[in-house]
Amino acid sequence: MFTWFFPSKLNSNEWSKFYQTKYEYHKNAYHWIVVLICLAEVSYFVSDCQTFGYIAWHMLIPRCAIIPLLSAYEFYWRRHDNYFWNTIFGFLLMHACMWCTIWAVYNLPDRNFVREGFIVMHFGFLALGLAVPYYMSTMLHAIILLDIILSNQFMHYEYYTMMVSLAVPIYIGTVLLQKILENNYVDHYIDHKKLEELSIHDQLTKVYNRNILHSILVPQTNKLALTEEKSIWFLLMDIDFFKKVNDTYGHESGDQILTTIAQCIQANVREQDFCLRWGGEEFVIILQNITRDEALSTAERIRRAVEQSGAKPPVTVSVGVSHYQGHDYHQAINDADKAMYYAKHNGRNQVVCYDKI
Ligand code: GH3
Ligand code: MG
Ligand code: MG
Repeated sequence: MFTWFFPSKLNSNEWSKFYQTKYEYHKNAYHWIVVLICLAEVSYFVSDCQTFGYIAWHMLIPRCAIIPLLSAYEFYWRRHDNYFWNTIFGFLLMHACMWCTIWAVYNLPDRNFVREGFIVMHFGFLALGLAVPYYMSTMLHAIILLDIILSNQFMHYEYYTMMVSLAVPIYIGTVLLQKILENNYVDHYIDHKKLEELSIHDQLTKVYNRNILHSILVPQTNKLALTEEKSIWFLLMDIDFFKKVNDTYGHESGDQILTTIAQCIQANVREQDFCLRWGGEEFVIILQNITRDEALSTAERIRRAVEQSGAKPPVTVSVGVSHYQGHDYHQAINDADKAMYYAKHNGRNQVVCYDKI
């Protein structure tokens, strides 16, 4: 029971990423419900007029008081995407709506009407809870009880105890529902992450596969995006005479060598660089923020590391190097491919830069 309530499926850093994802997934739905509830508050001016039997101008200010706050919230919401502050401001707006209702109802002949307004507010908190962290929703929704208790000091509700006893089960039901939804959403998030990881990683060598290329080289699709200003160099690496290794020692030895080579590459590049299995026994390494000479010496370092890796049987690699000119990465791959074939035709086990052929 305890672990169901507080599942430790994510570490603290992952929780904030999860909450940001949850927020982004539901933010439009919750935003429009919040806006509609504020507008409903304004529309109650009509029922006020019906209650009084004439156009009750004095009700206009309390009923419309939410509009400047809604506008400020809207202004903030459109410019910021941080789940934490958007949650706080969303709940503040809903509580402001509560107090506008209390203010308006204070002027009505029958203050019992406030009960309906309070019930509607629970819907607002429920909708907000879809998009925000469960723990925040639990705390920020609970303030509704404080609103009722405080406002009773001067409203002297006729059905005060009934209002509180109605609000408590609705609150408990709402937070329980939100807990169930959040637990399900965590499971869904973890599965989604696993699939995402699988789709961009090679299962044998554990380095990226070519699916990552589009997202790192097309700026709109990824925050990691590489641009030509970053001075990017491509290395295309192919194992020499690998077919013979497979034919002589078997595919399992071949697979082991592929893993060893992936490790050699990763040990010789920086964290900001990308190593991907291009397919078969070819790897692409993308180096960023690096000069031509540094790219060539990295390629040479990797070539030597493979040669000295102690792989059984020993293997070597040929490497083609090219400069990424931006936009079309296929061109950089083609250039590196030509340089790599040049290396193959000139003795293998060497690094060749495209601008030298
Ligand atoms: P070259 O020096 O010209 O590159 O000669 P090569 O024999 O390496 O020729 P090529 O690059 O065409 O060889 C590709 C071989 O790589 C064919 C296949 O047997 C092997 N290969 C591709 N993928 C895998 C894999 O996942 N595991 C294993 N064990 N072998 C693979
Ligand atoms: Mg090949
Ligand atoms: Mg080969």
